[in-house]
Amino acid sequence: MRKKIIAGNWKMHKTPAEALQLVNELKVKTVNIEKVDMVVCPPYLAILTVRAVLKETPIRVGAQNLFWENEGAYTGEISAPMLVDAGCTYVIIGHSERRQYFHETDETINRKIKKALEFRLKPIFCIGETLEQREAGQTFTVLKTQLDGGLQDIDASAMQNIIIAYEPVWAIGTGRNATPEQAQEAHQFIRSSLAEKFGRPIADELRIQYGGSVKPENVEALLSQPDVDGALVGGASLKADSFAKIIEAAEHLSKH
Ligand code: PEP
Repeated sequence: MRKKIIAGNWKMHKTPAEALQLVNELKVKTVNIEKVDMVVCPPYLAILTVRAVLKETPIRVGAQNLFWENEGAYTGEISAPMLVDAGCTYVIIGHSERRQYFHETDETINRKIKKALEFRLKPIFCIGETLEQREAGQTFTVLKTQLDGGLQDIDASAMQNIIIAYEPVWAIGTGRNATPEQAQEAHQFIRSSLAEKFGRPIADELRIQYGGSVKPENVEALLSQPDVDGALVGGASLKADSFAKIIEAAEHLSKH
């Protein structure tokens, strides 16, 4: 059975001092969690502080992006070896906000995924359609193009270290989540596409998170879908209380 994975994407929120407070609270609220993988992805400046607090806990730390070179004249960028040294285990790659505001493409995302894997960072690879694409009936074509582009020349054996996050763009930060049925339909499509590409056993092991306005009130219905293996959470991960409730829901479902 696939272990559920709940990750918090803090985006550009929290100073190191605020981050410290949040993870100190989260640490206490999650002491009884055994069956769920937990990840927080703070802004770069807070990673060291957060990692120091979480070091002896099962909560892992991720970054929100990386650059595809190890070092060099790339002002403002952060590399995979830097993230590893700071204690990161995961890295979000290809978030729709990065595609939208920073012009990331399937090709640059593919380079980043390869670099992350080279340094044993686990990519949380985000894909998802816009509202316009959904309404034009292009959802599956968009997902397939993003999967093919982002995973180009990636070895089947590397897939066990990749998490896919299905995040319909129209559901991110809007308060309007996909219905459990819409999420399941997309997740099932993603899993079948990956089965075609990498074989059924690998696709069956792969974890696919849903992201887009996940809250304590809707998480149980979403995670109850057979192909939804976790959540990538934005807004509701900024408060220890709501994020812990989401993790508890995943734990509860994993026990039954
Ligand atoms: C996200 O940033 O990946 C996200 C899903 O945000 P929110 O939960 O706020 O919609």
